[in-house]
Amino acid sequence: MSNTRKVVVIGAGVSGLTSALYLLKSKKSYEVTIVAQHIPGDIDIEYTSIFAGANWGSFADDHEIFLQDLDKPGYHYFMDLARTEPGAGVHIVPKQRYNRQSEMGKDGKPHDPWFIREKFVEGVRTLRKDELPESVGEDAKDPFVAGYEYQTITISTNIYLHYLLQQIFALGGVLKRKTIKHIDEAYNLHQSGERADLIVNCSGLLASKLGGVQDPEVHPIRGQILWARNSASKQISLKIPGFKDESVYIFPRKEGGCIIGGTFMPNNWSDVVDPGLAKRMIERAKKYLPELVDPNYEGNSTEIDVYRYNVGLRPGRTSGPKIEREGDIIHNYGIAGAGYQASIGLAEYVCQFAEEFYQQKSRGGNKL
Ligand SMILES: Cc1cc2nc3c(=O)[nH]c(=O)nc-3n(C[C@H](O)[C@H](O)[C@H](O)COP(=O)(O)OP(=O)(O)OC[C@H]3O[C@@H](n4cnc5c(N)ncnc54)[C@H](O)[C@@H]3O)c2cc1C
Repeated sequence: MSNTRKVVVIGAGVSGLTSALYLLKSKKSYEVTIVAQHIPGDIDIEYTSIFAGANWGSFADDHEIFLQDLDKPGYHYFMDLARTEPGAGVHIVPKQRYNRQSEMGKDGKPHDPWFIREKFVEGVRTLRKDELPESVGEDAKDPFVAGYEYQTITISTNIYLHYLLQQIFALGGVLKRKTIKHIDEAYNLHQSGERADLIVNCSGLLASKLGGVQDPEVHPIRGQILWARNSASKQISLKIPGFKDESVYIFPRKEGGCIIGGTFMPNNWSDVVDPGLAKRMIERAKKYLPELVDPNYEGNSTEIDVYRYNVGLRPGRTSGPKIEREGDIIHNYGIAGAGYQASIGLAEYVCQFAEEFYQQKSRGGNKL
């Protein structure tokens, strides 16, 4: 029997890979085996991480301090990565959010999110009126009256997931493509051939189905997104009146091209692309970010050039993400639409819980 800390991580999405990497980077003799049904490179409705935008833009409300704290370390981490690691597939872009009249508070002012008010993020500024989209046609009914900008990142998910994986391999981590039916199977899948001491469960949406977990709170939040070849200089987001589940967000990627969203449909498992919605998304992209179809900008096509129509299912959880230790299992799943931005905050918890587990184990604690 070796004296290493034998850990099996279930899942190779952003939650599992970041957890595995942070354990390995802690230099505390962890031997980490990742066991996953889907791995970087796969495109599958049950593998959410590939479909993310992905940007940093905390959804946490003013009172959701725990969620704010989960998101905070990710901002600094990804901004640093964009500046120092060209191979990570992360770049810095300005994000503009446009507010409509109906979003104004009783005082006539917009209710900006915590990270804008506190100037937690870089480059916060109020948009001038001439920087807002024109409020013509349908938009005249609920015109754009305010907006802000800040500096954020877009993560090219496929490149970033591979970047995480390469670092894991370099630190001795092992990846096994395997589907398990019950969480207990994971104990016998460690690379050493010995029983794992600790399991880190990062099974995402499938935590609703995995035997021994089957969390009834976990549910999909469906998002339809388009991958397009058109490039842009900034991210934008805005609401669409009359469409409860639809909004516009566009994130340009570092290698060119962009992701166009999107929808937010809780409890909808459908993997079928809605062509009517796709058409609306394309029209909105052209209208609210005209440089996408301006040949003078990066030689863009004059039409939105979609190379893949996608549906992704965010791993929602009714009472929020499950990040806790139950004996020799650490759970890290259910992070909904914030899996990248919160990945660092969550991985820090995983390391803390793992350390606590091994401390107790070394003291001979039988109530781990
Ligand atoms: C349209 C869309 C846009 C998004 N935009 C953003 C954004 O801009 N910023 C952001 O931070 N987040 C964004 N997200 C959210 C983000 O993508 C998710 O929160 C994140 O990907 C969840 O990662 P995960 O690792 O928990 O799950 P997943 O990526 O789904 O990974 C789960 C892993 O567990 C494995 N697994 C599950 N069950 C088993 C089993 N029984 N046996 C073996 N392996 C198993 C799977 O194979 C997979 O490897 C977006 C999501 C969508 C859909």
